[in-house]
Amino acid sequence: MRNAVNRDYYPLVILVLLAVLVAVIGSWVVERSGSQKVELREGALGAQQQYRWKMVTTWPKNLPGLGRAPETFAKKLKEMSNGRIDIRVYGAGEIVPAMGVFDAVSEGIAEIGHGAAYYWKGKVPAAVFFTTVPFGLNAQEMNGWLNYGGGMELWQEVYAPFDLLPLAGGNTGVQMAGWFNKEINSLQDMQGLKMRIPGIGGEVLNQAGGTAVTIPGGELYTSLQTGVIDATEWVAPYNDLALGLHEVAQYYYYPGWHEPGSTLEVIVNKQAYESLPQDLQAMVRASATFANQDMLDEYTARNNAALKDMIDNHGVQLRRLPDDVLRKLKQSSEIVLDEYAKSDPMTAKVYQSFKAFKESVTQYHHISEQAYINARDL
Ligand code: CA
Repeated sequence: MRNAVNRDYYPLVILVLLAVLVAVIGSWVVERSGSQKVELREGALGAQQQYRWKMVTTWPKNLPGLGRAPETFAKKLKEMSNGRIDIRVYGAGEIVPAMGVFDAVSEGIAEIGHGAAYYWKGKVPAAVFFTTVPFGLNAQEMNGWLNYGGGMELWQEVYAPFDLLPLAGGNTGVQMAGWFNKEINSLQDMQGLKMRIPGIGGEVLNQAGGTAVTIPGGELYTSLQTGVIDATEWVAPYNDLALGLHEVAQYYYYPGWHEPGSTLEVIVNKQAYESLPQDLQAMVRASATFANQDMLDEYTARNNAALKDMIDNHGVQLRRLPDDVLRKLKQSSEIVLDEYAKSDPMTAKVYQSFKAFKESVTQYHHISEQAYINARDL
């Protein structure tokens, strides 16, 4: 009887036990989801931290091509970070002059900058190799050297004493040899040629018998028009068309032996970079990689269209520099660069790495890129 009564209570006992179990599990779940909410809320608070940075550049604001790269970088970074990092781009002269960008970012006047490493050759001779040198690497090869050939580590080492982190932030691809009002049919025609060509390219021209002249970009048009210079280099069809150089020069020569794949740079102030959380640091690096590739893609498409426009609608006469001229310029480049590498031990170290990479990649590109393009032209 007793047993029977007890048995009658079994379902009730099981029900109570179940209710207790549900209550315990329920409260544990509520507590757990509560703590998750707190974590999420803390995460959301962290996400609201905003960084507003100034980016100084060596380019006139919104200059086609070159001036677009820093805008592309800033836009991509804002988009990736959902507005957590907002960069305002300043053109040359707005905060500091074009040639003041390196110092301004180094000193923290601006957190970030955009320009080209070879502009700083007076202060940092090794820097030229991180933009381009005559008969150096093309865009694809530069990216290979920087990212997988030890170039980036060297660049970081070169800029470290200035509290700067360098990143590749654009590439023009192979430039044009330039605009000439004198026809170049042989090495003889190079003698005494007055050409605006800055940097190491200018030193090479002098070695090859010409006279390098330094003239700011804004004066190129008039200087060609009035005959102050016989020739000038600039960039490539897309940029050159915008400057109107086809109106004052007869011949457009190629290839751009002096700038075979100019890399632009993003420079970040070290303290500013380190103040960012890791995810934003990664986004800064990724945005530079994006801008680096994007500019090359834009130039590839627009140079092609601009050249066609020049020839079809503006009567531009396209000319190739003769082999003897190119051969002489190449020999002169080696002499000038070997000498230049003696500037200081760091320049020698960078040159050695650059040169070794160039020799090995040239061998491979003979049978890959070059062989393919030759085959396509058959
Ligand atoms: Ca140029």
